[in-house]
Amino acid sequence: MADVGILALQGDVREHAAAVERAGGTATRVRRLSELAAVDALIIPGGESTTIDKLLRAFGLFEPLRERIHAGMPVMGSCAGMIMLATDIIGAIEGQRSLGAIPMTVRRNAFGRQVDSAETELVWEPDGTALHATFIRAPWVESWDPTVRVLATTEGPDGARHPVAVRHGNAIATSFHPEIAHRGAVPDGRVHRLLLDLI
Ligand code: GLN
Repeated sequence: MADVGILALQGDVREHAAAVERAGGTATRVRRLSELAAVDALIIPGGESTTIDKLLRAFGLFEPLRERIHAGMPVMGSCAGMIMLATDIIGAIEGQRSLGAIPMTVRRNAFGRQVDSAETELVWEPDGTALHATFIRAPWVESWDPTVRVLATTEGPDGARHPVAVRHGNAIATSFHPEIAHRGAVPDGRVHRLLLDLI
């Protein structure tokens, strides 16, 4: 069975682990290099990208993780995890680094400060069906390389549509939190299943 690591520095670690198990994988918390080396894929949960960046470096995981991703390990990042996977960040703090897995520019806190959290129906472009998504101080994709596949978009306060789910080779990123359930329902498993399919 595929063993999916959940980066356990911050965020919805338990919820992502449950989603992986529902999708048919096993989940392992990753905080150490030896744990990172043993997993088949990795999820970077939401939180604060500035903190995740600092903790990755403090735990000696930043370079090894970057190398594993560039060597082809499947990876998925949600919200702050999306920011960590981008090559470029608008609204980064001084010295903030990202892993550069997806050639795109993301805008932090794109929906505005007043929009702390929101729920929206998206169209999941791979199958054209609705997907209920929860956003928490979320980024969106501002610009992207043509090799990046857009999986879902939403309308921003600027009236334009922006990608909120993308895939590039072995990397998937979502602005929303696919591990979060809507009103007590079981969370939609499509994003986690897509990650398992990449293994
Ligand atoms: N605003 C956060 C950041 O910039 C992301 C929020 C989240 O992950 N829920 O890192």
